[in-house]
Amino acid sequence: MSGADRVIVFDTTLRDGEQAPGASMNLQQKLQVARALAQLGVDVMEAGFPVASPGDFQSVEAIARQVEGPTICALARAVRPDIDAALQALSPAPRKRVHVFLATSPIHRQHKLKMSREQVVRASSESVAYARERCEDVEFSPEDAARTEPDFLCEVVERAIEAGAGTVNIPDTVGYAVPEQFAELFRHLRAKVRGIERIVLSVHCHNDLGLAVANSLAALRAGARQVECTVNGIGERAGNCSLEEVVMAIRTRSDYLGLRTGIRTENLAAASRVVTAATGFVVARNKAVVGQNAFAHEAGIHQHGMLSHAQTYEVMRPEDVGWRSTSLVLGKHSGRHALHARLKEMGHQLEPAQIEQVFEELKKLADKKKEIYDGDLDALLVGLFQNGSGRRWQLVSLNAMSGTGSPPSAAVALLRKDGKKLEEAATGDGPVDAVFKCIERITGVSATLKDFHVKSVTAGEDAQGEVVVVVEHEGRSFRGRGLSTDIVLASAEAYLEVVNRIAAGRLLRKAPPEPEVVCGAV
Ligand code: MN
Repeated sequence: MSGADRVIVFDTTLRDGEQAPGASMNLQQKLQVARALAQLGVDVMEAGFPVASPGDFQSVEAIARQVEGPTICALARAVRPDIDAALQALSPAPRKRVHVFLATSPIHRQHKLKMSREQVVRASSESVAYARERCEDVEFSPEDAARTEPDFLCEVVERAIEAGAGTVNIPDTVGYAVPEQFAELFRHLRAKVRGIERIVLSVHCHNDLGLAVANSLAALRAGARQVECTVNGIGERAGNCSLEEVVMAIRTRSDYLGLRTGIRTENLAAASRVVTAATGFVVARNKAVVGQNAFAHEAGIHQHGMLSHAQTYEVMRPEDVGWRSTSLVLGKHSGRHALHARLKEMGHQLEPAQIEQVFEELKKLADKKKEIYDGDLDALLVGLFQNGSGRRWQLVSLNAMSGTGSPPSAAVALLRKDGKKLEEAATGDGPVDAVFKCIERITGVSATLKDFHVKSVTAGEDAQGEVVVVVEHEGRSFRGRGLSTDIVLASAEAYLEVVNRIAAGRLLRKAPPEPEVVCGAV
């Protein structure tokens, strides 16, 4: 295959993926993910939207400074302050890209932007030119391109190319496209837009109809040479095109597609784990490529076939995506060295202080549980990176009673950040309800429980229970997670995390920007 068959992998886990409600990562978590993406060999990494919040700015800057390998990209609306912020945050990066976007579809022009076609063309070409004067590598995205009139789209794209865009991305922002029609749009652009052969056409799909990967492949077949995607397919609503799926489709069906990427696919499972650990979003068991069951065979007839020849029922080999045959990791007597080695194998690159922290937690866990599996380690890391410092409330003690004959009750003691210890007791419909009531009374934060969900992290009677709670507070959703071999304790930790989030007002940055500036993203 020649250079023309090479597909540029543009990862947007840290920008579009992070926009998923409840996925917000702290700086440490973003750096973890960025390092895993560099290991994976993505060509471009969209690190964030610097103007959106000081936190976003800092994380883009930190990634630009610390992460080597990929081109680091930052998102900007088609206005100068956004582009300035993006450039400033990107300045330490050896290779940088500014990604300018402006919506072009009629519905966005009329209802969101209140701009005419002419205004949209002018604003996009002017901002691309402004960015290009300051940065060699500029990408332009006409937001909601899939619902834009094709000829108007051609005009916008042509003007963006004239203004200096080196990559033009065609986003299906709302997940509306279907493969053949979407491919037709790419062919139309290639046939009609002057100068299109000079730039890289890119595709960015959302999965609202479950078609993100299919639409991306159709666009690549029709001439796109950059695919925008996220690890585990995380993203707003139903998510983005999944990196591991599109990459493995390109690799597995190179016979038909005639394309290749630069991804080191043997690091896919590790990258998936790191993203799960950072976001707390667990992938479905039956998720393609990285789900727990992706390479598991239950049916007897399949097992028989597999034993005779693996390819009878598998189109990929587990080792191609970094699956290991064994998942048992550590026992009570494993040392730091074994832990370090295992974490590294799993794709988690931690600082020495973090490894020490994991080691301490692991020792505590090993007292409660004989064998520790990869799943336990992942779950532990999720908690470690999510909680961190700055929590307003911490659990000191908890006692819960349930049984026949007396109402369930609980007594909880919490430590407030200022060092004050507060206690409460309550009865409830069950021990968990009683614990939640105690926490509400102590913290004064009341929230409506929307979802409560217990799952076992690994197998066995001493397996850890993972509790996820989703609550609503003043019209917003908050998500918390707790992990313990005792599920009442795990429930308390999960609820406390939610209370800490509410108290910290962390999700305030998800509030819509002021009305005069354009909201949304590609
Ligand atoms: Mn998007």
